[in-house]
Amino acid sequence: MNGLTEKKTAMEWKAIFESEAFEEKYGYDGRDLGAVYGKAYTSFKVWAPTAAGVQLNLYHTGSDQEKDAGLAGRCSMEKGAKGVWNCKVEGDLAGVYYTFTIEANGGVHETADIYAKAAGVNGSRSMVVDLSSANPMGWEQDAYRGGYGERPVIYELHIKDFSNDIHSGIRKEYRGKYMAFTEKGTQLAGKSGGYMPTGIDYLKNLGITHVHLLPSYDYGSVDESGDLDNQFNWGYDPVNYNVPEGSYSVNPYDGAIRIREFKEMVKALHEAGLAVVMDVVYNHTYSADSWFQSTVPYYYYRINGKGQLSNGSLCGNDTASERRMFRKYMIDSVCYWAAEYHIDGFRFDLMGLHDVDTMNEIRNALDQLPGGNQILMYGEPWRGSESSMKKGSIPALKEQIDQLDERISIFCDSTRDCIKGSVFYAEKAGFVNGKEGLEEDISSCVLAWCTKRGKFHPRGPGQIISYVSAHDNYTLWDKLVYTAKAKPWDFLEKNPEVLQQNKMAAAIYFTCLGTPFFQAGEEGARTKRGIGDSYASLAEINQLDWARIYEYEELTAFYKGLIEIRKHFGTFYRKDKGVLDNIRFWKVSCANMVCFTMKGDREEADWWEELSVIYYAGLQKEEVGLPQGMWQVLCDGSRVNLKKEGMYASETFTVPGRSVIILGKQVYPK
Ligand code: CA
Repeated sequence: MNGLTEKKTAMEWKAIFESEAFEEKYGYDGRDLGAVYGKAYTSFKVWAPTAAGVQLNLYHTGSDQEKDAGLAGRCSMEKGAKGVWNCKVEGDLAGVYYTFTIEANGGVHETADIYAKAAGVNGSRSMVVDLSSANPMGWEQDAYRGGYGERPVIYELHIKDFSNDIHSGIRKEYRGKYMAFTEKGTQLAGKSGGYMPTGIDYLKNLGITHVHLLPSYDYGSVDESGDLDNQFNWGYDPVNYNVPEGSYSVNPYDGAIRIREFKEMVKALHEAGLAVVMDVVYNHTYSADSWFQSTVPYYYYRINGKGQLSNGSLCGNDTASERRMFRKYMIDSVCYWAAEYHIDGFRFDLMGLHDVDTMNEIRNALDQLPGGNQILMYGEPWRGSESSMKKGSIPALKEQIDQLDERISIFCDSTRDCIKGSVFYAEKAGFVNGKEGLEEDISSCVLAWCTKRGKFHPRGPGQIISYVSAHDNYTLWDKLVYTAKAKPWDFLEKNPEVLQQNKMAAAIYFTCLGTPFFQAGEEGARTKRGIGDSYASLAEINQLDWARIYEYEELTAFYKGLIEIRKHFGTFYRKDKGVLDNIRFWKVSCANMVCFTMKGDREEADWWEELSVIYYAGLQKEEVGLPQGMWQVLCDGSRVNLKKEGMYASETFTVPGRSVIILGKQVYPK
């Protein structure tokens, strides 16, 4: 282990960093890395066992383009145990910016702090922050994780998409920003008549429980000092993992402001009864020329057999979750967001690039926080391509779902593609848009794949996210327009056939076991004009079109109804395999039809003793015999009606073409 400060090839570093000896000798468990602020002094620590020297640089500004940007102070750091360099600076440093100059692997780099909690514009200088002074009023009382985790309905939303539309009714300076979530009482601009809430009132009204935010940590693809009106990105390109993104702040120059605004957003969502999920992207960084690489060259990245950066992320670099200090980094970072920002759930991008031990350790670490066992964890159980994970580590891929904690869930692409067709081939259909012979697969969707059929074996329905659309790929509407074969495709045209298929798709995944999840705007026929990979498209392509949502009010009402049905029938949310005993499929002679009855558990919140559900993808109406009893028609295929004075059926029901029928037995006297 001698010569750690000398220049080496990537392969040589790989051999060292994959050795038990290195991890053992230099693995550091302290929770004090980065800048630890105190009124009297701030302590700085950086883990850099391969560095020959480390200096701390202090600045008055967060970038070198501002007035008085020059160096304001410097101090040499001392090397301590485990390769941790440290120094203390006397005085109240809140608001002071800093970097480290690190000499390692034959080069010298000025770098921001990987553990930074605050940063200046574009994140290239870290900032010392007094976190308590960045709390909004009443933050200490902010209720978080308060039972939200029990019956989740997740809504996937991009911060800028939410309020960028000029019709959003949100004040101009907040549009596209964190602060848009704090605006109450907004309505669709430019329309008269009816109550048409937008913004947070709309979210509250919809009935969802969790707002899942696309990346909102500091990412690199938007120039925060540039013209923000003409830039857009989804944000899957992390620069500072523990700092909120600057472009969503009204002032990205002062590191404390975005922290306060982020917390204001969380608080507003919590006050509306909504939990907050963060989309986290630990599997790769904006570029390989990152703070990680400048701090400990080649430690944080996987190297393939040719000595190149592994590229299973298809973003040019894969981080190495199986290495002790990156695993610790992920755990520390997730727990930091949960504790400091009151985050209620985490969605892991390309989770298949991480190893199962790291994911399970994160689960365990979250569980140790007060109320932490309510925090949701779910991720994408796939990767872009092979990754050079250390031998012996097990990737958190779909096929390994049974090795993940039962409270770590996966996006179920089997359900997604079975219902409406492949995400990769626009014109390939699924069950609702005309593909035949899918009855058995659709039954597996209902059972959240807790059958012996699939190539993957969930520990229970709690591990499955049932969905049909997310930010990636086509919106549900666009996908259905493609498969309707109305070439040339017209995404803006009213299309009753597509509308009916959309309702069908929604009614299916909302009546499957597992956790329902949908892309914001799916309930309002959201279109990206046929563009799938819109990560850097114009904001106008991506953003929620509030007028369109009200144009498709009928569809929105349908989603609201489905959410309501789910909320009042606990069986849908059972996480254990035992729930399969509550479900009985009936034999029908008709093709493209799946029918089942789901027993309730007679829970307090339940409205029905039993539900019967008919999925029918055929085009001609079909008379179907019903199980015994008097059934209330909760969904007739085009509308959801939960009012007791609604329609009832017994013995048979005539099912219209392309419809989902939901029937409820015995309304409890409430
Ligand atoms: Ca940024």
